[in-house]
Amino acid sequence: MRLTRDEMRGKAQTVLGLVDPAELGPTLMHEHLIWDITHPAKRDPASRGGPSPGQYWDLLNSHVADIRNTTQRDRAMASRATAEMVEAGGKTVVELTIGGLVPDPEGLAQVARETGAHIVMGCGHYVHDYQDPANHDRTVDSFAQEMIDQVQQGAWGTGVRAGIVGEIGCQWPWTDLEKRVLAGAVVAQQETGAALTIHPARHEDHPWMLVEFLRAHGADMSRTIIDHIDRTIFDDDRLFRLADAGVILEWDLFGQENTYYAHSDIDMPNDGMRLRTIRRVIERGHLDQVVISHDICHTIQFSEFGGHGYAHIQRKVLPHMRKRGYSEAEIDAIMVGNPRRLLTFI
Ligand SMILES: [Zn+2]
Repeated sequence: MRLTRDEMRGKAQTVLGLVDPAELGPTLMHEHLIWDITHPAKRDPASRGGPSPGQYWDLLNSHVADIRNTTQRDRAMASRATAEMVEAGGKTVVELTIGGLVPDPEGLAQVARETGAHIVMGCGHYVHDYQDPANHDRTVDSFAQEMIDQVQQGAWGTGVRAGIVGEIGCQWPWTDLEKRVLAGAVVAQQETGAALTIHPARHEDHPWMLVEFLRAHGADMSRTIIDHIDRTIFDDDRLFRLADAGVILEWDLFGQENTYYAHSDIDMPNDGMRLRTIRRVIERGHLDQVVISHDICHTIQFSEFGGHGYAHIQRKVLPHMRKRGYSEAEIDAIMVGNPRRLLTFI
């Protein structure tokens, strides 16, 4: 059954159906609960369970590859991890496991039923290297229609509908295939009234290239989120220019403080540094453009394997924000107000 735009307008859409956005509460805007970020050439469909014991630091810092760290297919484990967030005061998780990362819509629905959390699912396709080769010749229209259907009808062969478009993946250099998917995602944003969330390439100039692309395609900048600011932008000139363009800025790697991130030369900030940067953005008048999350996508990050877990922002970051002089109104905007506005279909 296809929902019409009129039926969706003014509501948010979780994996269990439409809800009043006022029910969403504190929201993590970018997470994964059930995923496979193992490179497609190295996947083992039988792999499940947690990572090897005794290798926490090596796994955390990408020094060793272990598909049990990069593959998480266990619904019960996802439920336990989500329940912790609810217990700590969180309410909604935006789950952005999409094409290329092996989404499990029915699994998310099960987690939502078991935990009482609202789960809003993404749609579309992740970066080029993870996409099905069958995508390589597809057109913008084909991608657009697929995402519209995923929002209005159901995704990945199920009746579970997406509540946001993305995280649309981009790698460096940005590929033609990724541009076609993103152009289709903009059409899906325009046609459905959903927000759009984008995983930028690991290059400090790529977010601005996205802004130019989005403008040229007529995207609604106020409903477009640039993800992973923490690992992408390291200077205020680029950051403020992006803020002035009107896009939403997402610091979604809270709890990840490792120097040896993803084999890259990126100096990952710690949470305190993130909060200082966000403070500067707020002082400049951009409070309504800030959202945060953990982007958990390694099992080593689950609390049951010694990681920070999905309750980290509730348990650690929010108290730290208060200590650092953030007001309750600011915290409420970042955790509740901004996510609610973005997740409400227009
Ligand atoms: Zn992600």
